[in-house]
Amino acid sequence: MSVELVCTVCKTPYHSSQDRFICSNCGASIEPILDLEKRRNTMIQVIKKGSSRSEGIWGYRPMFPGFTNVMPVSMGEGNTPLCHAGTLGKVYGIKTLLLKNETVNPTGTYKDRFASLALSLFCSEGAKSVALGSAGNAGSSVAAYAAKAGIPCYVILPDGGVFARAQQAMSYGAHFIRCKGEVNDCIDLVEQGVSRYHWRNASTTMLHNPLASEGYKSIVYELFEQMSQTVPDVILCPIGGGILISKIFRALRELISLGLTQRMPRLVGVQAAGCAPVVRAFEQGSKVTSVWENPKTIAGSINDPVTFEGITALHVIRESAGTAVAVNDEEILAAMRLCASKEAILAEPASAVTLAAAANLRKSGWIRPMDSVVCVITGSALRDLPLLSGGTQEAPSVHPGNLEELDLTMRR
Ligand SMILES: [Zn+2]
Repeated sequence: MSVELVCTVCKTPYHSSQDRFICSNCGASIEPILDLEKRRNTMIQVIKKGSSRSEGIWGYRPMFPGFTNVMPVSMGEGNTPLCHAGTLGKVYGIKTLLLKNETVNPTGTYKDRFASLALSLFCSEGAKSVALGSAGNAGSSVAAYAAKAGIPCYVILPDGGVFARAQQAMSYGAHFIRCKGEVNDCIDLVEQGVSRYHWRNASTTMLHNPLASEGYKSIVYELFEQMSQTVPDVILCPIGGGILISKIFRALRELISLGLTQRMPRLVGVQAAGCAPVVRAFEQGSKVTSVWENPKTIAGSINDPVTFEGITALHVIRESAGTAVAVNDEEILAAMRLCASKEAILAEPASAVTLAAAANLRKSGWIRPMDSVVCVITGSALRDLPLLSGGTQEAPSVHPGNLEELDLTMRR
């Protein structure tokens, strides 16, 4: 690839031929340079027009540096609904509460926006196999796109509560390897295996894949179109490795540079209280995160004790006049159940954190009643149903044809 790169924070320029994309000057993540001046009119047109259902994220191809001549490996990712959560908004006291429903992506998560670009790029470069370390969602997403592309995929997941996600990855034919560590240990193992097994490292970090990471920006382009060419006042994002909020900020900055909006929404990074290195760093006024000891939360998909894009995430939260907050498992469960029963969206714990945080920030007054608020519902709880519905054992049982029993049940 021949794309020029630049540090997200100190703007030091980099060339693309390296293994780890991290700024040697300040430690922040690195992103590809998108020349907004050179193709200004094309980009304005692309974003204003929006993407068709069949094109998905590929309708925004000019916004992803390095993908001009790449053949897409695509399954209709992107173009997800923006749902007005009227009932939930009423409960929380927020008039305009909007849910960007990423659960309807092909594998049930926003990671498909990355995986489609990653596998397309790898295949165009002749990759023979891919591997990644993941907290679960990225593993199933990359596994699916590798299946579609017809190349083997190795998924290394932490030996914890990611069983349903491992099953999903294996269903797509991926080779599943368990690691007795955290998600960062899995990613480290993949790094070590790259030269030994000729894997392409498909870990969903800017550190390893700055080009494919650009796929997440399409969430903002879609939002802009869905909100009649405006942006919301507040956007809440879950934070695991920190990549999503960083890319959302980047896309918003692009909209501002192109003159499509004047406003930067306030970005809220949300973590689970049982693993909140970014929130801790934010509260301490620090520019860097430190490792979170003994992480424990039901929000497995953001249970990242090491924050790969921590410096960038903290930078963009502060630049946007946003904040970082944590919510506990009880609040997460309550938000999941409310979202499922009132809005009919099954938000996984790592997504429901944004709803719980919106409720808390409204209570504290940080979110004002008239603010337009977007929560990014990053992944589906179809893999977390026991957590969501409780057991089915306690449900009433009747015999065939016995209406008296049914009457009794109905009266209860
Ligand atoms: Zn830097």
